[in-house]
Amino acid sequence: MPRSEEIKEKAIKVLQIVFGFSEQNAKLCIAKNRSNINRSKIISLSHFFNYFKNIKEISYTFRFIGLVSVTESLYPKIKPNSERLKKFLTDNLDIQYKKQLLSSFIFSKDYKFQKSKIFPLRHIMFRDFVNDKKYRRRLRISNIQSQVKYCSKSLCRCSDWLNHSPNKIDAYMEILARKLYDIRNAVIHESNPSLILSDGGSLLDTHTLLKGPTYFRAYESDNITKQQFIDIISSGVKHFLLNNKL
Ligand SMILES: [Zn+2]
Repeated sequence: MPRSEEIKEKAIKVLQIVFGFSEQNAKLCIAKNRSNINRSKIISLSHFFNYFKNIKEISYTFRFIGLVSVTESLYPKIKPNSERLKKFLTDNLDIQYKKQLLSSFIFSKDYKFQKSKIFPLRHIMFRDFVNDKKYRRRLRISNIQSQVKYCSKSLCRCSDWLNHSPNKIDAYMEILARKLYDIRNAVIHESNPSLILSDGGSLLDTHTLLKGPTYFRAYESDNITKQQFIDIISSGVKHFLLNNKL
């Protein structure tokens, strides 16, 4: 079999196996990407995705690194690099998936190691939810501090509030992208893998920030399974490849 035919067939196959493309859609995608180099990139990013979807750790850190790396292959021309993840998350995910991601990760403020408090961890939209007094009055949500000392899907109302603010979702996705990119930077640039800290019985993933070696941020995943996370990202890659050329 000539080399280009081999690359073409392999690319069609990996799209079906890794991202669940139908044969017809895989062929459409490969027809759009005619050069051997682009087809090879599709094979390579599929292999990479396949690798990171099999990560076993409970922590999401290495899944985030995998996600960033895949998006970097999709948008090689966009600069600075941190913009690629933003674009991927805002342009390729269904709104339900965006809401799910925003409701699934909570973050601490940036804190000084062993000097300032880690808690509370909040959803990205928490502050705007609290400031929406009209909404809270309408639903009789009061005494906000005691109700939401710690954001989580079962305790706080951020996720419900998000359903009433669809126009803000992409801006929140950009903030989420920035935070995930910071996690990636801590590992890639600082060789500083995330630490798991115990604080009052909870285990928390925490990472350094580029602004200084003593600054940290903690995060937690909440009510999302590893499979759900992978399915969301996979749907985004599929959307990208069906609608764009590499
Ligand atoms: Zn919340």
